Amino acid sequence: MLSIYNKISDYIIVLSCTGKIIFCNESLLKRLNYNIGDILDLNILEVTKSKENNVKDRLIELEEMNITLDFYTKSNELVKINSNIIIEYFNNEKSIFIIGKEVDSKSYTMEMLEDLLDNIKIAAFITNEDGKYLYANKSFNDIFNLTREDIIGSYNSYYFKDEICKEIEVNNREVLNNKSPKIFNQKLVVNENVHWYKSYKCPLYDKNNRFKYIVAIAENISLAKAVSEEVYKNFNRTMTNSDYNDIKHHNADLNKILSNIGECILDCTQADGLSILMYDNGKEGLIPFIKLKNANKHLKNIKFIPCRIDNIYSEKYKSHFNTMYSKGQISNLPIYNQICIEGLDYAANYRIELSNEFIGIITLSYISGNSPKYNSDEYMKHICNKIAMIIKNIRLSNQVFAENKMRKYTEIELEQYLKVSADLVSMVGKDGYFKRVSPNWYKVLGWKEEELLSMPIDYIVHPKEAENFRMNNSRDNDGDITRHIIRFRHKNGHYVHLEWSSMYISNQGVYVTAARDITKNLEIEREKRNLEEAVQLEIVKNEFFSNMSHEFRTPINILIGTMQLINKNIEQNNLDIENLKKHLNYIKQNSYRLLRLVNNLIDISKMDTGVYELRSSNQNIINVIEDITVSVADYTKDNKINLIFDTNVEELITCCDPDKIERIMLNLLSNAIKYTPENGYIEVDINATEKDVIISVKDTGTGIPDDKLDIIFDRFGQVDGSFNRMCEGSGIGLSLVKNLVEMHGGKINVTSKVNEGSKFTFNIPIKLKEENNKDYDFDRKFKHVERCDIEFSDIYSV
Ligand code: ADP
Repeated sequence: MLSIYNKISDYIIVLSCTGKIIFCNESLLKRLNYNIGDILDLNILEVTKSKENNVKDRLIELEEMNITLDFYTKSNELVKINSNIIIEYFNNEKSIFIIGKEVDSKSYTMEMLEDLLDNIKIAAFITNEDGKYLYANKSFNDIFNLTREDIIGSYNSYYFKDEICKEIEVNNREVLNNKSPKIFNQKLVVNENVHWYKSYKCPLYDKNNRFKYIVAIAENISLAKAVSEEVYKNFNRTMTNSDYNDIKHHNADLNKILSNIGECILDCTQADGLSILMYDNGKEGLIPFIKLKNANKHLKNIKFIPCRIDNIYSEKYKSHFNTMYSKGQISNLPIYNQICIEGLDYAANYRIELSNEFIGIITLSYISGNSPKYNSDEYMKHICNKIAMIIKNIRLSNQVFAENKMRKYTEIELEQYLKVSADLVSMVGKDGYFKRVSPNWYKVLGWKEEELLSMPIDYIVHPKEAENFRMNNSRDNDGDITRHIIRFRHKNGHYVHLEWSSMYISNQGVYVTAARDITKNLEIEREKRNLEEAVQLEIVKNEFFSNMSHEFRTPINILIGTMQLINKNIEQNNLDIENLKKHLNYIKQNSYRLLRLVNNLIDISKMDTGVYELRSSNQNIINVIEDITVSVADYTKDNKINLIFDTNVEELITCCDPDKIERIMLNLLSNAIKYTPENGYIEVDINATEKDVIISVKDTGTGIPDDKLDIIFDRFGQVDGSFNRMCEGSGIGLSLVKNLVEMHGGKINVTSKVNEGSKFTFNIPIKLKEENNKDYDFDRKFKHVERCDIEFSDIYSV
């Protein structure tokens, strides 16, 4: 009998007539959480927590009655048991049987649960193992526009194509096999419309682990998915558009995208009107961008709604956003107070913003008779966030698109400019390599673009100019422009002169360069210079010949005239010795002049042809100079000029050609005498140093104008070119002197001041010849007189 009691799901407890528990079946033991050993012999008072002592008697009184007794579990939880009291024999003793069921503690009813399920936005349903619908809530029925009765007992194959049915079956199988719930993203095509659902499926099992059914909910995520996809697509588009090479993508159509999203929102919220207004920062106001359904009516003729950002975020208005408002409050809303709100029951403004940047608002409205089915505020905030990203991305993408277009356009323009430019334009990196070259490089230098781009610029620069030409000068500052004329090597080997200018652009680390081929210009210039030189030479030659003819004619005329005079005197027998001597002197002087002229011409032409040689030997140069100075003393005396000689050493042996040193000195002295007036001074000074002997001839004569100082050493360079010049001369003396000084390894220079005098200074380096040659020619002194006569022959007064 007891084993039967134990199998019964109803609770059975048996008490002795003293109220002691003498039996408790397994169902009740389990519910009260006692072991049989613990509960037996306890008084009923202990499990009912009753304060009445006479419970037992009351129970007896209640025999055959239905009452609710309070029991307490071991852990003190109250269990109300709807009990029947029976007095019956148990183990041959009269005992009290309490048989009962737990009072239903649920405060809700089946109806309540159904109401709940039918009024949530989420579809809920239950299927069996084969996918047969056992239950479906209203949202689920609405998907198919069918009644619950239609749905229950039906299969997916009634509603969906094979493909979708298979997918649902696979999903169901998965949760069954895994015996655990799972979330699926499911694409459903209902009446040709595609919907995306996020469904949660959970297999349920009884306590014996037998499968009962699958309970499931499904939420429509079409809008969220569409919005997310749009965000992703736009992100991708922006990224692709950033790729400089791929700018063929068309502008993203923001209007179309937002209209589609707007339609989805209307579908989802069942609102009657939706608009998207974009904020214009410059104009400080909102511009209607999208108007759907009733919004067209409310925003009719509205092009601009002034409003300032600080107002939108002000304490006063802040709370007016992102919440649905009902009729009485609508006119307080910041935007709705400026538009037609007639016939509206509900309205809301949701802010579109991203990282504190206010982009615009979305308005939602419901007309009278319609109302929001669910609170969509959180959902709309989420959508607004995504929409903000889409707008930002599209704007960015369009901006990049426009910039790329502009860049491409500028590129093309630059390309065209480079093509037509007469210059060789290039960009050279700091590494010295060409980065870009214009087509003219090929035309002018014969190198192809790819050849130029693969070599450093130094490679084609003339080696002599490479040093000057550095493209990676660490001292280069931004915007520094350098200009050079550089020779570049043509591919066929010859060099081309380029007038080169380059500017350094530091942030790009490149030099922008422009160059022009000036080889032809240089050739023309060279030819012009040659021509000018030839003309100049011709002029000089002509002058020289006219000078020479004058130089020759004057003494020759005097010679002829004198001879005629002598002949006439002979014919007239009028020979006077004194007179004859005078005439012979004229003949001698003018013959010397001719001889000097011829000597100078011969020397100059020898020098020109390089056959003029020094006959050098070791000489006491002090003696050579002193002797020749002393030998002109007669001339200076005749001209009433004071001649001074000074030296810092008495003897200095050096290797020189004494004849040429005399020639130098005679020339300088004869010039000094020629240009120094009476009572003037001529000073010859020798200053011997360690390396050189420095000789100067200084006079207090007419001096030489500054601008002539440079030309007097040139051949035929005369300060006074007029015919009636003070003294005769061919203008080749000083050029000869200069050559002679330079042949000795020295240099000559002059300092002079007009009306104060001139000073010619030359140096002869001191050196000795190996062989001890001392063949100083003592006859030379005797030759001096004649040499002087010849050299001084053009001083008239002689
Ligand atoms: P020239 O045979 O004409 O004297 P030079 O070559 O000796 O030729 O001199 C060139 C010119 O230099 C002279 O014509 C003269 O004008 C000027 N000159 C040379 N020496 C002097 C000097 N000591 N004082 C002034 N002018 C001088």
